[in-house]
This record gives sequence, structure tokens and C-alpha cells, in this order.
Amino acid sequence: MPIMKQIRMVADLNKCLGCQTCTMSCKTMWTDRNKGQMHMYWINVETRPGKGYPKNWETQGGWFTADRNNIPLPNISEDYGAPWEYNHHEVLKTEGGDSQASNLIPSPEPSGSDAYASNWDEDVGKGIFPNSYYFYLPRICNHCTDPPCLEACPRQAIYKRKEDGIVLIDPKRCRGYRYCVKGCPYKKIYYNSVEKISQKCIFCYPRIEQRKGNFCAAQCVGRIYWVGYAEDTNSNVYKLVNKWKVALRLHPEYKTEPNVFYIPPLSPPTYSFAGKLTTSPRIPIEMLAKMFGDAYDQSYDQRVARIKQISDIIQNERKKVSAGSNSELIDILISRSEKDRFQL
Ligand code: SF4
Ligand code: SF4
Ligand code: SF4
Repeated sequence: MPIMKQIRMVADLNKCLGCQTCTMSCKTMWTDRNKGQMHMYWINVETRPGKGYPKNWETQGGWFTADRNNIPLPNISEDYGAPWEYNHHEVLKTEGGDSQASNLIPSPEPSGSDAYASNWDEDVGKGIFPNSYYFYLPRICNHCTDPPCLEACPRQAIYKRKEDGIVLIDPKRCRGYRYCVKGCPYKKIYYNSVEKISQKCIFCYPRIEQRKGNFCAAQCVGRIYWVGYAEDTNSNVYKLVNKWKVALRLHPEYKTEPNVFYIPPLSPPTYSFAGKLTTSPRIPIEMLAKMFGDAYDQSYDQRVARIKQISDIIQNERKKVSAGSNSELIDILISRSEKDRFQL
């Protein structure tokens, strides 16, 4: 169905702190009220490299998979990572413990290569010191232009609003068949086993209707988000994606045309064995190119070239500002006020 406008969000991964304020704001606003929603994080901030959330979602497939009958469903008790309990009573004085006596220990204690929790990978990291690295990847439903969750639903319970392109599930029509969970390659639909329906990010449409930013973006401590309409050439989402071309889609090869874009992270150069700085960035470009791109038909080499190009564009604009010139791009990236972040 043709839509009039498409909501779009850009996230600058150079600015995400991994503080999970966005996660908790959505949780507080939308999924903290009802049973059956405990495993749902409509926005989650995962660690990269890492297994993500649900566990290994990138390997589970979606409606693009040739054999649709063999797409697995995430297991609620295993694949979303139950929160650990900690021995606070042994450690914290407020709980009767002695903080000199022992350390906080998660229970069950994670161990081995199978250890998993939403952000377990952050404690492991990647690379060998002093070239270790990781970064954060916040994810919401992408409100895709061509959403396979919608196509997968035999009840026509999923629809894309023509006024803003937000993808919603009608709870009255949903029967919990979970074809949508299989269909979404980003695994951003969750099954509520108490209500027996599927649920997902609603892009805070009641706020968007009042021209307010979605809650996770509005609460973001790092001010990493810009939200606006793809067609609005004055919006910063348009400028970042179409004019400055510094934002890419996550896994465009899934062919869903996601409407959340990411500015890939820059990183400092690695050190050689001799302790000298090299010209290679610490976060491997090849790894970023496997994640981000412009379009489904772009080759891997083109994706590598785009990651390098984006790094060059941002660094050149930074140099201009250091030399005393103005830069529209750097002004947008600094994002001084809410007006800079939301054009709705
Ligand atoms: S990210 Fe998944 S749930 Fe969201 S619109 Fe796209 S296919 Fe549907
Ligand atoms: S846009 Fe709204 S519903 Fe979606 S993840 Fe953010 S806070 Fe939650
Ligand atoms: S609130 Fe912003 S900075 Fe903090 S984790 Fe979420 S996206 Fe990152």
C-alpha cells in the first residue's frame, strides 16, 4: 500500500554509551505493565562483536530464507538471556554484607564459550590488548518499507500506517501464530505467551502524532538519534542519509529496506608489535561492512569502500572545524538541542 510519508531514524554509533537508558525508558513506557513481556526489549542495545538479542538473531533467517518452513523461533527461556541474580547480601553493607569481604558474583555464573546474556560480550570484548575493541548497537523495529512480518501474517494483523509508515500489529486480529516472528529477519517481534499474541515496537506513535520524539530517542543520554521523515529534505535524517551520505542500513541484504540507519563507528588506529601506531582502525572495516550497507544489491567490496568513505567524510569535516571553518555535518552530529534531533 502506498504511504504518504515514512518515519526514519538515524543513530550515530560513535556516541552510544551503552547506558541502556533508552532500553529502560521503553520498558517503563510500554512493556513493564503486563505479564508475558518480561523478555521483551522493544529497543535493546547489544554489544558488537557479540551474539546480540535474541541470541544469534543474525543466523536465524527471515522471510527471505529459501525454506520458510525451517526458520527457527527464538526460545523465550533460553535465547533472550534471563537476568542474573547477584550476591548483593554478601557484598553490600546496605544488605548486611561487608564490601571488603567478597565480589559481586552473578548466578548462575556464566562460563565457557556458550555463556550468554544480552550484553555478556561486553565483558569479553574482541582483539588482543592493546588493540581490544567493542561497540554498542541499539536496535528497534526498523519499520521497514517492505516489511516481511506483514507479508508473513496469514491474519492480516500487521499493517503499515499510510500517514507515517509505522508498522503495527493489531492485537485484536493477532492469534499468536508467530509467522511474523519467523518472517522478521531482525527478530524484533516478541511472542507474549500470557496474552498469546505477538508484540513489537510501535515507534511511540501516540507521541509521533503529537510531533514529539519517540521515547527511547528523546531519553537518549548520548543524543545519538535524529528522527524525521525520509521525504523532508530539510530534516537532519535526510541530510545524514541522502546529502552527506554518512548513514547506512543494518543488513540491507535482508531486502526489507529498514528505516533505521546507522553512522558506523570510527575507531583509533591499532598499535603494531613494536608499539607504533598503524593506519588500520581498531574496529575492522571488514566486520562493519558485513553489518552495514546502502542497499541489498551492493557488493561486499562496495560496502567496504562506503565504510572507508564515511570515515573520510567525517574526519575531513572535523579537520575543517579544527581549522576554524564551519561544517553543517559536524553541527548536525553535535546535536545541540532537541530541535536538531527531531523534525516531525
Ligand atoms: S524490523 Fe521486523 S518487525 Fe519491524 S517492520 Fe521490519 S520485518 Fe517487521
Ligand atoms: S520507538 Fe517507542 S516503542 Fe519503539 S523502541 Fe523506542 S520507545 Fe519503544
Ligand atoms: S540511551 Fe542512548 S547512549 Fe544510552 S544506550 Fe541508549 S542509545 Fe546508547
